Amino acid sequence: MNKKPSTKNQELIIGWLYPELMSTYGDSGNIMVLLKRCQWRGINVKIINIDQKSKTQDLKSIDLLFAGGAQDKEQSIVIKYLKKHETEIRKLIEREVPALFVCGAPQLFGKYYEPSVGKRIEGLGIFDMTSIHPGPKKERLIGNIVADVNWQNLYPKNQELRTKSYMVGFENHGGRTCLGPTAVPFAKVLKGYGNNGEDKTEGVVYKNAIGTYFHGPLLSKNPEIADFLIAKALFIKYSKEIELKKLDNTLEQKARQMIARRLGIKL
Ligand code: GLN
Repeated sequence: MNKKPSTKNQELIIGWLYPELMSTYGDSGNIMVLLKRCQWRGINVKIINIDQKSKTQDLKSIDLLFAGGAQDKEQSIVIKYLKKHETEIRKLIEREVPALFVCGAPQLFGKYYEPSVGKRIEGLGIFDMTSIHPGPKKERLIGNIVADVNWQNLYPKNQELRTKSYMVGFENHGGRTCLGPTAVPFAKVLKGYGNNGEDKTEGVVYKNAIGTYFHGPLLSKNPEIADFLIAKALFIKYSKEIELKKLDNTLEQKARQMIARRLGIKL
């Protein structure tokens, strides 16, 4: 089989949506992980912050999209700006540009989010899902979480790329998310709450966009997800499979196993 081209001299532009308003619980760490895992492979990376001052033009060059979590108050501010860039964001997702949206972000990319108090926030409807916060008196879904990644939803065609890996992180959300009939879950909860604490689903996948409740940051202990996003971004940008140099993930695996063991998960 002919060798896949290397990542030398490749460049990726990562668009970070509203970093000032959406980066709860260490989510900005995901940007650092993506940056380092690209640099360690000789891939040049440019991070562009997308905020209310950004022009729609700025989104056209994005190869990988990221948005972190946010409290209800920030979500009601961000949605106005998201709507301003809605057409361009939708074009990126439909063009299968990979994206990672954490917690408060995927809630805004669903059909709607009903915050703890105040009016329903109409979302972008990219994910077929709805999220409802049952109100300030109801417990928040907080704690460590372990889930089995549904790799078949990330690599529906290439069986060989599905690494058997579970993921660990922590969650802190009041909103309960229900997936609609066309939505596929990102993972299956082994320990913790996930989307709603009932149906064992965690997150959502649409094309190469991932929505998840995993904070942590997610990618620091789950590097396979970071590499999925990087590999997909290179494939879409350069329209060819580009071999990602294998990196030593021993430390990440040890951290993951330690947390899984602490939660009594035998894997
Ligand atoms: N404000 C949303 C909720 O409570 C999202 C929280 C978050 O992003 N951590 O569900």
